[in-house]
Amino acid sequence: KQWVYLFSAGQADGDGSMKSLLGGKGAGLSEMSLLSLPVPPGLTIPTTVCQYFNENAQQYPSTLKSQVKSGLRKVEALTSCKFGDVEKPLLFSVRSGASVSMPGMMDTVLNLGLNDETVKGLEKQTNNKYFALDSYRRFIQMFGNVVMNIDMHKFDQIFSKYDNTTKQQENLNKIIQEYKLLFKNETGIDFVQDVYKQLWYTINAVFKSWNNSRAITYRKLNNISSLLGTAVTVQSMVFGNMGESSATGVVFTRNPSTGENIFYGEYLKNAQGEDVVAGIRTPNDINKMKQDMPKMYDELLRIRNILETHFKEVQDIEFTIQQSTLYILQTRNAKRSSRASVKIAVDMVNQGIISKKEAILRIDPLSIKNLLHPTIDPNQGYHLYTKGLPASPGAAFGKICLSANKVKELHESGEKDLILCTEETSPDDIEGMHLSKGMLTKRGGMTSHAAVVARGMGTPAVTGAGDIQININEKKVIIGNKYELKEGDIITIDGSTGEVMKGQLKTIDVTFSSEFDTLMKWIDEYKRLTILTNAETPDDVLRARNFGAKGVGLCRTEHMFFHPQRLPIMRQMILANNKEIRNQALDKLLPFQIKDFEKIFEIMNGHPVTIRFLDPPLHEFLPESDEDINQVIEMSNISKDEMMIKLKNMKEVNPMLGLRGCRVSILYPEIYMMQTKAAIQAAIQCNLKLKKPVEINLMVPFISSEEEIEIIKTQITKCIENLLPDDNHQIKYQIGTMIELPRAALKANDIALHAEFFSFGTNDLTQTCFGLSRDDSSSFINHYERNGIVKQDPFVALDVDGVGELIKIAIQRGLSTRSDLKLCLCGEQGGHPDSVKFCHNVGLHAVSCSPFLVPVARIAAAQAAI
Ligand code: ADP
Ligand code: MG
Ligand code: MG
Repeated sequence: KQWVYLFSAGQADGDGSMKSLLGGKGAGLSEMSLLSLPVPPGLTIPTTVCQYFNENAQQYPSTLKSQVKSGLRKVEALTSCKFGDVEKPLLFSVRSGASVSMPGMMDTVLNLGLNDETVKGLEKQTNNKYFALDSYRRFIQMFGNVVMNIDMHKFDQIFSKYDNTTKQQENLNKIIQEYKLLFKNETGIDFVQDVYKQLWYTINAVFKSWNNSRAITYRKLNNISSLLGTAVTVQSMVFGNMGESSATGVVFTRNPSTGENIFYGEYLKNAQGEDVVAGIRTPNDINKMKQDMPKMYDELLRIRNILETHFKEVQDIEFTIQQSTLYILQTRNAKRSSRASVKIAVDMVNQGIISKKEAILRIDPLSIKNLLHPTIDPNQGYHLYTKGLPASPGAAFGKICLSANKVKELHESGEKDLILCTEETSPDDIEGMHLSKGMLTKRGGMTSHAAVVARGMGTPAVTGAGDIQININEKKVIIGNKYELKEGDIITIDGSTGEVMKGQLKTIDVTFSSEFDTLMKWIDEYKRLTILTNAETPDDVLRARNFGAKGVGLCRTEHMFFHPQRLPIMRQMILANNKEIRNQALDKLLPFQIKDFEKIFEIMNGHPVTIRFLDPPLHEFLPESDEDINQVIEMSNISKDEMMIKLKNMKEVNPMLGLRGCRVSILYPEIYMMQTKAAIQAAIQCNLKLKKPVEINLMVPFISSEEEIEIIKTQITKCIENLLPDDNHQIKYQIGTMIELPRAALKANDIALHAEFFSFGTNDLTQTCFGLSRDDSSSFINHYERNGIVKQDPFVALDVDGVGELIKIAIQRGLSTRSDLKLCLCGEQGGHPDSVKFCHNVGLHAVSCSPFLVPVARIAAAQAAI
């Protein structure tokens, strides 16, 4: 069996399609080798070895070591150097990488193969003592930290004791001695001199790192569960730290923050490895290289074009220049902000690189939510503290937290607006980064850990704000020697401009870019599902319409009764002793309802509006305080004793399964009649005003039997006939029902006889299908999710297997008695891409979701149809 895949410029055993086997890095290196790009030769040990290692008590396949050895022989032949040789030592980097890139999760060891003897060979070969010693020093440090788990700070402490500007070489020798001593003290063994031992210790550590807690956390946060493991790439070293004609850097073929089609990136001269991303020195803008190293810049530009044309995707490229020779060390599809992903996809269609369909498929529907991030309202005064780099777009305000742990601590105590403010970030900070609303770092560029992670998460970030000084001990931040802030003070950051400002600034909803509008137009060419919205306030309805909703799929009328002006009247109605008093109350509510509906109809401007009759458990309206009770007593003219008995009788043990939905209407038909009247009268008004037909769907909730819908439908129809002349074609109405109880799904054939449309209320349907209370289930559902007992919270993404089955049954049975039955889904899950896909596949006509999710659902609907 093949356990080793070789690559070198011009040839490779693998290729770019073999990501799951070679990891993203290994596959990318192979593909670039096949393109004859300057890739230092090396070999990749595939993910199947990691799997073997984990399943066989950390043993390797028996032929692995011999295959690696013969692979190394070939690399030696290509480089004319020899691993462990004292004259011409070959050095390696040992790099990890799974098929999904996990920034910073697993560590790379550079300069492997150096020891007390080979370091002399390196010096002779390069005629550069400082370089050789510095490389050795770096190797001991990385090997000690990554492989032997020695705390990095202990190395840093030694390093910073020496002034490295003068007497460099002498100091380096001392540092190396101290490093070795530290190594011995920490591990109990001498620093490993045998290069093959160095190699296998390191490979071992990489495979083990697959299961370190950082990697596990990252996979968990990103829902990555299906991977075999990591691959390991052993690659010959090239050196960016060989003086002023050497450099290392990272470039993006386009701007990953804005999407602009301009070359973008950073480099550092005379530097190695992660110096650029670690944020230890703030790197130069790549444009500086045009003057600084013009030949290298041109070469890099040439490779940028080759890679982007070849992969048809924005690339994130790592390179190193060794004494004016350029090497490419990695390429991958660039992580980018949501805004950039839309712009890039649309630009690439316009450039003829990809098709419209490909462009649509490239957008992660959920990431579109990030586009709806607020920006800072320009119409206000503000006080600018400082400016850093605009690393991840969006504006955020919150309390300054000086560590990821502080974020966690405050978050647990219920604080949500938190800004993580640190010198730089590391993979250990991931959780705190996740919980913060924004990030601010002193060091690090646009490609630093903080920037990359923030863009991935869609969290606003400002990096490289060199003006700030963080004093951890005194829990203070000093900005530009002018302002002194304490941990817990509030600041606002703007990740689109890099600005850091005083206090909490007002923010506004974003306006969409022209590329976004273009993309959304293309989407409408492909999608079949109609996207509606769940909304009842004018603000929400308007927002949803601006986001492209083609109607209201669920207008929850009960929300209209919790208004302080209306609640007492509502109470009077519920607690009324007789029909007369109830009707008096309803008469008072009618004008409110008419106004409410009129506004919604007007905003929807001819698009259909689905009005759901009053649904909630009545107890939600009952008065509790003495004051409220007395108010109702006064209004409804009954004695206190009577009232108290009434209240007691209305108490339910299980209100969510009690007197709610259509059951209320069966007992007190007047309520739905009032709402019907309001809807029709509002429609008439609106029709007069807009001179356009108005389309309403009247929806009866919580039906479980044919009889219920039959009775209610007859009442509604009669009521409408009294209000509308037969020949009115301006007001179109349909009467339908929600399917939110398992019995309704099963009896759908009978129910459809009386319902012109179904809307699947998947919140209640999930609740009643599982026997789960959605208000209390989070405690154990989280546990279920963590332990893989459920894949996802069924209230977030529809449970296709169970609840989905009920939906399929209802569709099939409903259509069997009414072939033109209209079908919609209006649960919370309607905005989840997976659920939208399900709706498309089972043949629903529409999905209704909350306003902010309308664009998400539209994209998901188009993707499902492609
Ligand atoms: P990551 O997964 O964190 O991106 P990499 O394996 O890409 O880790 O290594 C990090 C950095 O180490 C690279 O960006 C590059 O600068 C340096 N590096 C890796 N391999 C080599 C090599 N063969 N020669 C020189 N530098 C290397
Ligand atoms: Mg790394
Ligand atoms: Mg890398």
